Amino acid sequence: MIVLANAGARSLRAAARAVIPCLWRGKYFSSGKEPVENNPVTPMLQHLVYKIKATGPITVAEYMKEVLTNPAQGYYVHRDMLGEKGDFITSPEISQIFGELLGIWFISEWMATGKSATFQLVELGPGRGTLAGDILRVFSQLGSVLKNCDISIHLVEVSQKLSEIQALTLTEEKVPLERNAGSPVYMKGVTKSGIPISWYRDLQDVPKEYSFYVAHEFFDVLPVHKFQKTPQGWREVLIDIDPQVSDKLRFVLAPRATPAEAFIQHDETRDHVEVCPEAGVIIQELSQRIALTGGAALIADYGHDGTKTDTFRGFCGHKLHDVLIAPGTADLTADVDFSYLRRMAQGTVASLGPIKQQTFLKNMGIDVRLKVLLDKSAEPSLRQQLLQGYDMLMNPKKMGERFNFFALLPHQRLHGRSHEINANQSKPSPSPVAGFSELTWQ
Ligand code: SAH
Repeated sequence: MIVLANAGARSLRAAARAVIPCLWRGKYFSSGKEPVENNPVTPMLQHLVYKIKATGPITVAEYMKEVLTNPAQGYYVHRDMLGEKGDFITSPEISQIFGELLGIWFISEWMATGKSATFQLVELGPGRGTLAGDILRVFSQLGSVLKNCDISIHLVEVSQKLSEIQALTLTEEKVPLERNAGSPVYMKGVTKSGIPISWYRDLQDVPKEYSFYVAHEFFDVLPVHKFQKTPQGWREVLIDIDPQVSDKLRFVLAPRATPAEAFIQHDETRDHVEVCPEAGVIIQELSQRIALTGGAALIADYGHDGTKTDTFRGFCGHKLHDVLIAPGTADLTADVDFSYLRRMAQGTVASLGPIKQQTFLKNMGIDVRLKVLLDKSAEPSLRQQLLQGYDMLMNPKKMGERFNFFALLPHQRLHGRSHEINANQSKPSPSPVAGFSELTWQ
């Protein structure tokens, strides 16, 4: 914190980034039911209509996967959708304080777990690279603490366009990037501060070394299956062609049980559920890695603890968008079910949270950081932006209560070396995990 107080005017200017009245994706929207005057026939709609005509209705998960990450026309693959001119705004794009506090979190965990001589920072879905840039700036500013630690950066990104933006943000291409589209490591370079950085399409390809993982607004774009309870039992929601209107899609219910139904809990009490098997696979991979090598994962997203029902929605140009209209032109998202993530960690690692963004950032010292930046800034417009950014991140009616933080940690991080807690043990108990309780420096 003290070191960050010395941040220069450049970072101060960056501290308030966005003009705030943009829409953030955590806002709730009921899906697929809005009256629509026009339904442009996008290349993606054509592709989906052919597909459904050939093989029948598709699951919502297949629809999301095609629309968002189809390598030829997927929404994420060829565009920059973030920020004021895009479709939605995210916390790192609103204020640099967000990324700085996450940087502090990783350093605090690195210190609490014995200051390993080397670690990887792995980000899933890095957007414009803004969050990684803010974390790296903190690493540089706390260079005296991290000195001698060998750090490398690993970005998991499927979007060609966004990976190019990330490379520009993080490396400024001072050293030419190495590209190899056919390799699991499709791009390599060196960051502005001289740290090796690599890009992958899949977490599986990131070296299984001691790592800190971060995923911000990543899990919400992974494909969900949707199920409706009916008198005949659970039925999967599918997407079909509307027989009344040409080139229009509609939701239908599967006439009989589908295999994905196995994901529903036997004691489920809701009448509509969304399940994200891909999130489960990624959580299992993260858990196994953390159990094997140590480290931690910090996951931040909007979501719930197994309580919400229909959260599938679309965003385009900072407006809510019908999910079935003009596919490929709008972002699609569903709230993250943290109770499912916890179940998928299956005891391999310990989990903390979800806790509200407001609580996490407060525990990490956001008020102190805001005060430092306000004290350093004389310009009224800058002060105004700093305060607006703080309000957006922290206000319970804005992002403060809708966004959550969730962490995966090795069991011994919470309970000491042994899984059995002995009240008389001479060994000091592990330090509290920052953010989930107040930040303390050991
Ligand atoms: N974390 C950033 C961006 C969030 S948008 C922020 O908070 O600003 C979602 C990000 O995940 C984008 O970078 C998108 O290209 C990426 N993404 C979407 N699906 C993915 C997948 N299956 N694997 C890897 N990255 C994915």
